[in-house]
Amino acid sequence: METWYPYSRRLPEADMTSLLIENADTLATLDPERSVHRKASVYIEDNKIVAVGPASEVDYSADRVLDASGKIVLPGLINTHHHLYQTLFRNIPAVQDATLFDWLLNLYEMWREITLDAIYVSAKVGMVELLLSGCTTTSDHLYVFPQGEEGVISDEMRAASDLGIRFHPCRGSMSLGRSKGGLPPDDLVQSEDEILKFYRLIIDKFHDPSRFSMNRIVLGPCSPFSVTEELLRETRELSKHKKVFCHTHLAETLDEEKFCIEKKGMRPFEYMAGLGWTGPDVWYAHGIHLNPDEIKKLAETGTGLSHCPTSNLRLGSGIAPVREMLDAGVNVSIGVDGSASNDSSDMLYEVRQAMLLQRVRHGVEGMSATEALELGILGGARCLGRDDIGRLEPGMAADLIGIDLNQIGLAGALHDPVTAVVFCQTRGVDFSVINGKIVVEDRKIAGLDMDGLIKRHNRIAADLLDRAEERTDTRFRRKKWKRAFEG
Ligand code: ZN
Repeated sequence: METWYPYSRRLPEADMTSLLIENADTLATLDPERSVHRKASVYIEDNKIVAVGPASEVDYSADRVLDASGKIVLPGLINTHHHLYQTLFRNIPAVQDATLFDWLLNLYEMWREITLDAIYVSAKVGMVELLLSGCTTTSDHLYVFPQGEEGVISDEMRAASDLGIRFHPCRGSMSLGRSKGGLPPDDLVQSEDEILKFYRLIIDKFHDPSRFSMNRIVLGPCSPFSVTEELLRETRELSKHKKVFCHTHLAETLDEEKFCIEKKGMRPFEYMAGLGWTGPDVWYAHGIHLNPDEIKKLAETGTGLSHCPTSNLRLGSGIAPVREMLDAGVNVSIGVDGSASNDSSDMLYEVRQAMLLQRVRHGVEGMSATEALELGILGGARCLGRDDIGRLEPGMAADLIGIDLNQIGLAGALHDPVTAVVFCQTRGVDFSVINGKIVVEDRKIAGLDMDGLIKRHNRIAADLLDRAEERTDTRFRRKKWKRAFEG
């Protein structure tokens, strides 16, 4: 049979690298028409998608060809909330059953021991987990710093650059110590002058606003109960002046609401909005305890929200009104949140959790699988202010993932491959491409000594806990077995 090729076979320019992802079983573009192609290919030059569509139409020679037969190809997932350093503090027995404030009060004691090496290694561990679960762009919110050290954001950024993940690090901050009425201990907070100095330094050194940027700096005071009003106001002013985004936690628990009403005489959103914290260049994490009026204001101002379902379930904080937010037109995205409250950095799993959790609240109308997938991809791009990622279209950044459809968890689910990866439990991605480079191939990250990384990380995690236990004379590793059955 003769095949008609609408495009003539094109050869790449000599100084350009090219990559052809060929013959995917299914390819979901997430373009405005939500086009899904069968037997499809993507052609990439350097870091940009040049052509995407049925394999018969994407007829290019490339330096490298990746066979995607039997796989589904999707735009990479975008994680909008994390605390990567918390991979060192997963499953701490003393806080397994704690709610947020009690959880924090215990963990602060362990976080006081953090080192620069711990920040680098934990960031790498969290990012590897994210990459293997389909994430190609992540944000992070780092707000705990070793005393007297300046390089913390650069250590995280080194981990991102070593792995090749697109990164939006939030330079977090805490300035309201316990002696001033805040929650964190005084030696974990920094002065406002010091924080503002670091903000400026980091923006000037690392922020790249250009299209296809791999690094965009975000300013992220930790929460209304750990920073001062002045710092929130000055952070927002600086972010507008420097044209960078702002991010923080909001309306996560009723304890936080009580704190704001008692100390500020208003609800958390009202307090933050009054300090200028709304707009398309601001996104919050959680938003569980927002009322309909506050949801409406979020939508009207274009303020984004990172929904973190597993963390909300784990800490028993509540179910965020995501259905209501989507109906009101809020920019909602998905975040795995820190590993001390998730305790996993699995983006595909988080997308599924988002869908299931809204169904607990609203029944099956709560959220569809395609809506959940959109939140994890398009919602993320919108919250981070990016129009160059999230869709597989010519001119977009080459960030995509491939998942093998012939795996045990998907057996019997292939009537609709796109929703299969949301409804079913997969073993993660088989390949991922970020900014035109293959980062994951055959479910492995090229050049990474995974066993070595895990061993090093476990050593650091044990050491930090040893030191915290010794200093405070508290056994954080101890928790009484709670029995479900007698006998
Ligand atoms: Zn968080």
